[in-house]
Amino acid sequence: MDMPQVSVCEVAECAYNEDSACHALAITVGDATRAQCDTYFVHPTKGGDASALGRVGACKMSGCMHNVGLECQAPGITVAALQDAADCLTFTAR
Ligand code: SF4
Ligand code: SF4
Repeated sequence: MDMPQVSVCEVAECAYNEDSACHALAITVGDATRAQCDTYFVHPTKGGDASALGRVGACKMSGCMHNVGLECQAPGITVAALQDAADCLTFTAR
């Protein structure tokens, strides 16, 4: 199974974000109650692989219809800042 792409991430202040794209090779989503990007991190320098698009390595949101066995099976996800966190907007409750 291929890991889903982070199609868009609008959280510009994250160290892994450049030009609305995530460059972390595998993010983790969810804390079991909220579909937030656990990999979100603010740092003075940018990180990740600029030549690669981020993918979802694991997701703890078992209540999402795209979640199978604690893995995401959406074709791609969109992430954006909501309140004080970076949230997966593709989350869809079962
Ligand atoms: S998806 Fe997460 S790790 Fe990737 S740029 Fe957005 S907030 Fe950062
Ligand atoms: S779409 Fe659902 S399963 Fe995929 S990362 Fe977002 S919350 Fe997790």
